[in-house]
Amino acid sequence: METVQNYINGQLSESHSERLAPVFNPATGEQIRQVVLSSVAETAEAIAIADQAFTAWAKTSPLKRARVMFKFKALLEENMEKLATLISQEHGKVYSDAVGEVTRGLEVVEFACGIPHLQKGEHSANVGTGVDSHSLMQPLGVCAGITPFNFPAMVPMWMFPIALATGNTFVLKPSEKDPSLALVMAELLKEAGLPDGVFNVVNGDKEAVDVLLTDPRVQAVSFVGSTPIAEYIYSTASAHGKRCQALGGAKNHCLLMPDADLDMAANAIMGAAYGAAGERCMALSVAVVVGDETGDKLIDKLTKHISAMRVGPGVVEGSENDMGPVISAQHKDKICDYIGSGVEQGASLVVDGRSLSVAGHEQGYFVGPTLFDNVSPEMTIYKEEIFGPVLSVVRVPDYQTGLDLINRHEYGNGTAVFTRDGETARQFSEDVLAGMVGVNVPIPVPMAFHSFGGWKRSVFGPLNVHGNDGVRFYTRMKTVTSRWPTSVRLEQHASSFVMPTMD
Ligand code: NAD
Repeated sequence: METVQNYINGQLSESHSERLAPVFNPATGEQIRQVVLSSVAETAEAIAIADQAFTAWAKTSPLKRARVMFKFKALLEENMEKLATLISQEHGKVYSDAVGEVTRGLEVVEFACGIPHLQKGEHSANVGTGVDSHSLMQPLGVCAGITPFNFPAMVPMWMFPIALATGNTFVLKPSEKDPSLALVMAELLKEAGLPDGVFNVVNGDKEAVDVLLTDPRVQAVSFVGSTPIAEYIYSTASAHGKRCQALGGAKNHCLLMPDADLDMAANAIMGAAYGAAGERCMALSVAVVVGDETGDKLIDKLTKHISAMRVGPGVVEGSENDMGPVISAQHKDKICDYIGSGVEQGASLVVDGRSLSVAGHEQGYFVGPTLFDNVSPEMTIYKEEIFGPVLSVVRVPDYQTGLDLINRHEYGNGTAVFTRDGETARQFSEDVLAGMVGVNVPIPVPMAFHSFGGWKRSVFGPLNVHGNDGVRFYTRMKTVTSRWPTSVRLEQHASSFVMPTMD
């Protein structure tokens, strides 16, 4: 059985931990690998290596650091098939969706290629007579990333390209459920010319995480995962004096107005609710529909679309499936329990995905697309994040009731409004309490040059990931105020006849 190890100081590093966790192929239910659960000492060793590598990497010019990112981007493109196949194998999502995930991560690498420009700081001449001021955006030191199972390539790439490009070193603790991607990315970074020790991977669980949260050499922690863990990470890392951004769970609502293009909205809601089996933090899990007539029409359209959906393994010969399995047997049981609770609490189960069996993959962790109508805010399926292919339709009489409902939910990651009316869209964008808003766009994930992050209990910490917030998170500002004696300009310099270049 292949064992997924750590990657420390530019090479695979065999763990001596006796604790291991199984890695499954969710489409077959078979164990395909095992992953090491690193000890306190092994995690501390990775931090020590990253700490030693920091001084030289921080002094490397931003241009050279950017060139590593350019090469890394090219290698990601060359290795796309390998990366996407591995994601699909360990996570279960369909191949084209895995390609989309790598592409969204790669876009952050492209953003990081612009770091010489992004890290320039500010300058003011003559803040006083003969006195100038400029700011330096300096790297922090060792940064840690702790990432979830649902985007094993993209979420780490929300973090490390910007952390590395700005001159930090990094220790990544990937999800133990699909850990292999991190090691492939570590090898590609080395091939791209990243010096040893600058990027390290420690596989593990809470034992390794707690070291990253408390070791004084770690300066900043980026986390993406569920809300209870995000809150724990934020409070522990902050209590140990670290900068922390911790992104948590979600329950994303859309508001469907009666004037919307219903065919377009139904198609958009399908992809956003059931894509990646609903295991996206931006998945649309609640459709708030204004008016019973709109509700009836939507349910009718969704039911027809669901009956045409192909559910099966992520990588297949010929035409691709629309949706793969969920991550684990336990998670499948949890989703099925949620569906049961919806029925018990009085929601109308329009399509039940619990009994789905995929021929030839009977042991796979498949749950079919599930649709509830007449869901109300007291129900567990409304309140909690299910993180599976379950869509709840809530009917409301008017726009304001729908908006108030969305604003009262404890999560505020993403949301969307479907309407043809510009004023409604504008008002919704202004008044809704969520970090990312789509207008006729079901999954409004900001591009790499904007920043990603929710509101309310979907996030802990002030700075979002990637975009300008990402650069600010991984740098600290130093402001230099200088006055120079006039004699300096009287000095003689030798002439140079070579075209000047900066490195
Ligand atoms: P999770 O919280 O179970 O795990 C995330 C990471 O935390 C993993 O690396 C895991 O090993 C570690 N971890 C788990 N328990 C821990 C503990 N007790 N102490 C320390 N570390 C611990 O999340 P998951 O199931 O891997 O991912 C799904 C969740 O992530 C969903 O809630 C989803 O909404 C959320 N998510 C959020 C975003 C976002 O941008 N807001 C993006 C992707 C996923």
